[in-house]
Amino acid sequence: MLEIADLTHTYGTGPTAHRAIDGLDLKVAEGDLLSIVGPSGCGKSTLLRSIAGLIKPTGGTIRIGGVPVTRTPDNLAVVFQDYSRSLFPWMSVADNVALPLRRRGMNAKQRRQAAAEALEQVGLAGAEGKYPWELSGGMQQRASIARALAYRPSLMLMDEPFGSVDAQTREDLEDLVLRVRGTHNMTILLITHDIDESVYVGDRVVVLSKAPATVVKELRVDLPAPRSRSPPASTRRSCTCAPRSAAWCAAG
Ligand code: ADP
Repeated sequence: MLEIADLTHTYGTGPTAHRAIDGLDLKVAEGDLLSIVGPSGCGKSTLLRSIAGLIKPTGGTIRIGGVPVTRTPDNLAVVFQDYSRSLFPWMSVADNVALPLRRRGMNAKQRRQAAAEALEQVGLAGAEGKYPWELSGGMQQRASIARALAYRPSLMLMDEPFGSVDAQTREDLEDLVLRVRGTHNMTILLITHDIDESVYVGDRVVVLSKAPATVVKELRVDLPAPRSRSPPASTRRSCTCAPRSAAWCAAG
């Protein structure tokens, strides 16, 4: 589905040039939910923006479905961390969700219906007519996720999507991603700096080095579905982790 080979990106030139990614290789199979974890500033967003065709990497190749990425691919949706800047404040929540569907060639009625369904799926039924600034941060991020879902992308990129919400909302949204993943047939890349989140949500975790980013480790997460935030009984007695670390502990 996604194949990245020898990806390199350097910002700027000359003595102030900054290499953000250095010879990164990655393969993602169709239907995978891949978490990408790495320290702040290591190049995670640069990687995601390169996959989304929002920046042109200085070296290497990115292919989605065998096709090289030269601009933003049609079957792709991105959920950014900063929900307050990703929804248009002058549009209702339903209009925000329906906006990208124009690219799908849907008529107004179909767009309205798809938006209503996606909003219901993320627990925002009834909020269609509200404006983004009338919603809490967590609700705005749900609306951003609804916009991505309504579009029915084959690849959804999430760039630290829960980094700006409170801990309880974060857990709800992590569960939401796992739920929608079960009902939509799509590949998801979740970028996070939270190790517990990467394990709780992902089938596979790719660990990036500090800048410039390269892949230092890939781990498969064999935790059963549906996932639990508590470690299995077999490990519980010896587990001294804090509750949010339980998933990581259970994964060994
Ligand atoms: P992460 O998402 O892992 O926090 P980023 O990909 O945002 O990291 O950034 C990686 C490095 O590249 C950082 O040192 C950052 O300062 C630098 N960087 C990011 N965007 C730009 C830019 N537009 N111009 C110059 N440097 C940038």
